[in-house]
Amino acid sequence: MAFPAVVSLRCAVQQYAWGRIGLDSAVASLSQSSNKDFTLQPDQPYAELWMGTHPKGPSIVGSSEHAGIPLSDFIAKQPECLGSKVRAKFGDQLPFLFKVLSVNKSLSIQAHPNKAHAEQLHSVRPDKYPDPNHKPEMALALTPFEGMNGFRPVSQIVNFLENVPELKAVVGEENAASLSAALNASNGNGSSEECRAGLKRCLSAIMNKDINEMTSKLEALIARLKAEEAGGQDLSQSNGLLVLRLYSQFPGDVGCFVSYLFNHITLQPGEAMFLGPNEPHAYLSGNCIECMACSDNVVRAGLTPKFKDIPTLCEMLTYLPSTAEERIFPSKTDPNDPYITIYNPPVPDFAVARVKVPADQTSYSLRAEDSPSIIIIIEGQGEVAHPSLPNGQALSFCKGSVLFLSANQSLALNLTNGLLAFRAFCPLD
Ligand SMILES: [Zn+2]
Repeated sequence: MAFPAVVSLRCAVQQYAWGRIGLDSAVASLSQSSNKDFTLQPDQPYAELWMGTHPKGPSIVGSSEHAGIPLSDFIAKQPECLGSKVRAKFGDQLPFLFKVLSVNKSLSIQAHPNKAHAEQLHSVRPDKYPDPNHKPEMALALTPFEGMNGFRPVSQIVNFLENVPELKAVVGEENAASLSAALNASNGNGSSEECRAGLKRCLSAIMNKDINEMTSKLEALIARLKAEEAGGQDLSQSNGLLVLRLYSQFPGDVGCFVSYLFNHITLQPGEAMFLGPNEPHAYLSGNCIECMACSDNVVRAGLTPKFKDIPTLCEMLTYLPSTAEERIFPSKTDPNDPYITIYNPPVPDFAVARVKVPADQTSYSLRAEDSPSIIIIIEGQGEVAHPSLPNGQALSFCKGSVLFLSANQSLALNLTNGLLAFRAFCPLD
């Protein structure tokens, strides 16, 4: 039986507790629109949609005579659909996992190891680090999307240490003073060696603080912030609102103090952040598209009931301060196609293209890439045509449809009202 170059996918929905509720979740609204087997429960969380071959949430071929088989089997039966470059670099498997995330409540503070470190962690602690692969990841906002990402400029942290006595008490007078001295000695250049060492000491002090002392300082901080808020004070510029929110989600968690060290970013739709190895982050709220290397390796250290590996996290981080604006990953418009915006991070595992076709355009051709693609339709409906489809029949799509497209194949789209779609692929030269 011949294999079509394009098939639709039915994708796994993950109902983690931190997901957005009912139709407030993009994961739920996309699934309800496109998957007739999906039954919405309006009071339940819908956290993630997984598009790919990960065994914990495999996508299933939904169209053609191959309907019902997992995408991994579809690929295994005809690995040439991956293209020769991907096969040479990654073997006979899809190198990336593509997701939609709908975040209602903060996810854990975490970082991902680089490849060599992932191999080492996996060999020593296979129960906590389930595979030897690295896990760079990129988040693209669908709605305003809020997260913590990387260390704040040192001047900001020094300012918090001077104005938040509970934070200074947890960090310790000596560590606070030495960070401030390092900043002065570097003429304001917070990325000097001394400043980075100072950041490491401050974070390690917070993370390793005696739990009783940390909790009592945190309770004092929360009581003070609540009183200030009740008195009509604006807490938005002093990180106070975020601390109160994190505390309400994770009472007593050390992550409340850590939020004074990390940038608080809100991406607007179309903006992205990329998390390379050893960069601390936590997603806080909103809907996004996420793409990552196919791996589960996460080192966690706060805002989570899961296993925390504080020594590993404190040791591995980059400690490179930057502004929130600098953490926004630059995209570029494709010089050959004004409808495409490319987000191409410095890893071979994946890139994402945003395809936005205006409503007056009734046809569009998605160009061939020399890697397989997964495409999710966010807005728009129509049909795709490809000579390999059985009996020359077109495949219809709508909001929420997900397609797998083989390498080196272009795809003709007929559109009824424009298109917004995201396409994950491997950017190999
Ligand atoms: Zn992550």
